[in-house]
Amino acid sequence: MFLAKKFIADAMLGKLATWLRIMGYDCEFTPHDLRDAALMLLEAREPGAVLLTRDTRLMAHKAEVRIILFREQRWRDQLKKLFKELNIKPDVKNFFTRCTLCNKTLIAIPREEALKAAPPQSAGHDYAFSKCPACGHIYWPGTHLDAVKREIARTLADL
Ligand SMILES: [Zn+2]
Repeated sequence: MFLAKKFIADAMLGKLATWLRIMGYDCEFTPHDLRDAALMLLEAREPGAVLLTRDTRLMAHKAEVRIILFREQRWRDQLKKLFKELNIKPDVKNFFTRCTLCNKTLIAIPREEALKAAPPQSAGHDYAFSKCPACGHIYWPGTHLDAVKREIARTLADL
């Protein structure tokens, strides 16, 4: 059975890539020109890698790498297709474990450190704060965790 470990999304799929990262999936997001298409194909040779594209020309490589071609325009439809095709379901405990900006795994940070950067209203809650080791962006589950769970549940409801 194929186990998806990493996604490589082309430049047409920025929104999908961001949502995959929010759900904790490893998703490289590469601007798309001829050279980068070659780079994406190279990265997609890694075991467990899946290339996500809207470019029909890349389908010429479907014997060498795992590719999902999206004709869908909207990220919700793209997400549905991806989960259906790979027969996977997102796991809520992985949500907000990855930086949506640079795809790095977040590290837990002490509350005192986080509160220097987080808005004052987050101080009254018992949040687990985390930080991106690359860009320094600070994350806390807050109210958007529930919003994201609802959004994903709604998007994937009819799978
Ligand atoms: Zn980051």
